[in-house]
Amino acid sequence: MTDPSLASFLDVDADHPFPIQNLPYGVFTPPETTVPRAGVAIGDHVLDLAVLNDDGLFDAPELRNTRPFAQPTLNDFMALDASAWAAVRERLQTLLRTDTPELRDDAALRERVLHPRADVTLQLPVDIGDYTDFYSSKQHATNVGTMFRGAENALKDNWVHLPVGYHGRASSVILSGRDVRRPCGQTRPNDDEPPVFGPTQLLDFELETGFFVGDGNELGTPITIDEADDHIFGMVLVNDWSARDIQGWEYDPLGPFLGKSFATTISPWVVPMAALEPFRTEGPTRDPEPLNYLRAEGDAAYDVTLEVDLQTPSMSSPHTVCRSNTKHLYWTMRQQLAHHTTNGCNARPGDLMASGTISGPTEASYGSMLELSWRGEKPVPLPGDETRSFLEDGDRVILRGYAEGNGYRIGFGTAEGKILPAACT
Ligand code: MN
Repeated sequence: MTDPSLASFLDVDADHPFPIQNLPYGVFTPPETTVPRAGVAIGDHVLDLAVLNDDGLFDAPELRNTRPFAQPTLNDFMALDASAWAAVRERLQTLLRTDTPELRDDAALRERVLHPRADVTLQLPVDIGDYTDFYSSKQHATNVGTMFRGAENALKDNWVHLPVGYHGRASSVILSGRDVRRPCGQTRPNDDEPPVFGPTQLLDFELETGFFVGDGNELGTPITIDEADDHIFGMVLVNDWSARDIQGWEYDPLGPFLGKSFATTISPWVVPMAALEPFRTEGPTRDPEPLNYLRAEGDAAYDVTLEVDLQTPSMSSPHTVCRSNTKHLYWTMRQQLAHHTTNGCNARPGDLMASGTISGPTEASYGSMLELSWRGEKPVPLPGDETRSFLEDGDRVILRGYAEGNGYRIGFGTAEGKILPAACT
């Protein structure tokens, strides 16, 4: 439920990312212990779900027995079904409402379960077994195709018929705030000369969102498109860092590899799909109509504003270089999940599936430096007479996202990281 009139007894400003309508899930360690557990963000606080559950504040006996919140990841909770997520969310909204005295009037309980956000340490919230990256923005695919193959051949024949994707690397998915070292690798800067080894010269960000699979499917049994929404737990921001020169030399014929797998940054709070329900929207027209297994009734795009800020070492504050929106995605999350499992491939709780770079129709909405600078032909102007074509050492990239409701905001927080100099050996 995402009722605009709901209000919490905790003070939360109208433009705060984490009102009672949101309640995103994360994993945190409180200051007085080293034991991570699940929580939700509410205003500037984190609500401790493990303690709430051990105190018997959730009714469901299975939660009390299995203690899914007293774990260092959200996987056990994600593995429950959509009705269990809905019951927990409803109970949390009840507990936090202005007119529920249970937590509001119990100072001792509040002391034990509500931590100031500034006092806790956030953790990577999910044990990500598999990470898949799609390529679902038509504008992005068209831009990149135009640069490398010309406008006539920009989109490959398959693109409008299926959500193109590749298997990424789960081990290097990192939490927002962790620095990213400039990768080293093999490139071929000059076609007339042999390849060389060294630091990437074309380091880039990719503005993406991703969803976590909740309960998965048995090997051999696809998730149909009509079932897909029930298997999607929630969303995060994703920066799919890319080394364009490494990628450009290695990708033929099997696709992205070391140019991608050095790091992928995600935001710490997983926004539940229930919080995003009011922001469903139509999405772009699909032409041609997709095959039956990719067709479903109803809106499945989401209206979430996305921004990318860049701060170079000489800048005193970040500067916004891109404004985009998830509604620009041609292929929806449910189409991605149905397509991913249509061959019987088993998705598992905690799998991360990212959208691909989300570029909008205008130049200011392109979701990578590759597009914003058009391969370096048009360096992006920054405050203080600086420009950037690709990322340099010390640059900080900050992704932000939010859905604007009626008097409230469903925020994603940020996914950020700073580039450290290469250390090639
Ligand atoms: Mn990507």
